[in-house]
Amino acid sequence: MRALRLAALVVPLLLASFTGVLPVGAGAPPCAVDYPVANGHFYSQTGEDTGRGFMVLDDHEARFWTAFQNEGGIPTLGFPVSSRYRFKGLPTQAFQKAILQWDSAKGGVNFLNTLDELSLAGRDPELLAFRQTPPHIALIEDAGLNPATPEGFSKIVQNHLQILTQNPAIQERFESESRWLELYGLPVSYADFGPVQVLRAQRQVFQVWTVDDGGGPKGVPVLANSGDVAKEFGLIPSDAISPVEPPDGIETGELTLELVSSQVRQGDVLVVRVLGSSGPVTISLGSIVAPAVCDAGEMRALLPISSISEPGNHTLQAKEGVFAAPVEFVFSVTPVDYPFERLYLSPEVESLLTPEDIQAERALLESIFGTFTTERRWDGPFIIPASGPPTSPFGERRIYGDSGLYDYHGGHDVAAPTGTPVFASQKGAVAWAGPLKIRGNTVIIDHGRSVFSAYLHLSEINVKVGDQLETGDLLGAVGNTGLSTGPHLHWEIRVLNVPVDPLPWTQPGPLTR
Ligand SMILES: [Zn+2]
Repeated sequence: MRALRLAALVVPLLLASFTGVLPVGAGAPPCAVDYPVANGHFYSQTGEDTGRGFMVLDDHEARFWTAFQNEGGIPTLGFPVSSRYRFKGLPTQAFQKAILQWDSAKGGVNFLNTLDELSLAGRDPELLAFRQTPPHIALIEDAGLNPATPEGFSKIVQNHLQILTQNPAIQERFESESRWLELYGLPVSYADFGPVQVLRAQRQVFQVWTVDDGGGPKGVPVLANSGDVAKEFGLIPSDAISPVEPPDGIETGELTLELVSSQVRQGDVLVVRVLGSSGPVTISLGSIVAPAVCDAGEMRALLPISSISEPGNHTLQAKEGVFAAPVEFVFSVTPVDYPFERLYLSPEVESLLTPEDIQAERALLESIFGTFTTERRWDGPFIIPASGPPTSPFGERRIYGDSGLYDYHGGHDVAAPTGTPVFASQKGAVAWAGPLKIRGNTVIIDHGRSVFSAYLHLSEINVKVGDQLETGDLLGAVGNTGLSTGPHLHWEIRVLNVPVDPLPWTQPGPLTR
């Protein structure tokens, strides 16, 4: 279940990035909404930001909504790019990555040979001229073979798979899909155009760019959106490709929440998907409130789980508009077995821990960490910002000497000699760079969406407020300033002003993809 959900999240991003020679439309997908309707689902993601879109429905004629889900839904097929229409007499609907045709005899769908149909419609010259797609070629090796016999068909398949050997990268991508015959059909032709290498199959086109500034990432096979190509080259009737108004009853679209990760521990950050919204939504967890924002075509919110939150069930509340009743979602927090430490500080250092100083610094930091901007600046996993062995882990429970002050460790400590370089763990804007009484010389980077990284106890600071940093940029050096018992880097990540475990941010996953 987890893998399926992750895949669902990744695909809209791919659709946005991998436009290639066969584009999906300009720019990133709009953060459009989709929601259940009677006997199906309405999607406005492909409605060109108009609020209109396409419905996928089950009815007496065909059960496209059921079939769409059975065939893998959005990760496999993409969003619908047409309403239902008839093609060669059969109910048909186009999606970004495939065109489905209803087969009443089997009570399910077949995948249309989209590229073959374009060839039959006489569009191969334009596909070659404008979309660098090699034309359909009949294989000499197939002559005399009868595809209706098992032996004939098997030989034809072998002949066509041979085409893949011209490009090992495409071959690997093609064969990694166990349903390749159903989703892609047989390979048909291959051409190396220099900057781009293209494989044409019956239902899909694969491209590999060999240059840096091509239409896709260099050296990585990408799939064209064959449904969009069919639309562009006139294979779909024009009235079927005009987005339609949402059906009446949009306000009854059910707001639902989904967590991207199945397990939630103390110190984690929830990635919440918001489905079925038709306007701005805020998500709250106790006193923490986060707006859902557009992320790769979906509404999402990040909510921090404090390391001192109670294990067990908690309730998220989603609220759309001012008057709507909140929708609740219950999830469970798993406890983490944090270590415990009693710290003895020198009297000089301990004198820093006056309630007044603690309060003053907290207020200053809250004004920084409490900022929310909708732009997401980070991109990929965070790096651990300095070399050295980890010492105190995130979440460690602490008692300071005999003072009775009880606290927990809000960061991840790295032991390193004074002067060791400290690097930005991700892209972002410097929100604070200067001395603090307790935290010492400190740099704070704003990564957007109220995600901040902080670097404490520095001996030197090399950046200033407002600097735009890239991952790995030098920002300062390890030191022993402020409330510190020896040279080390305290690295902290806060989300909505709550310290969270930084290590999950260094891994590929829903937080960092
Ligand atoms: Zn620390």
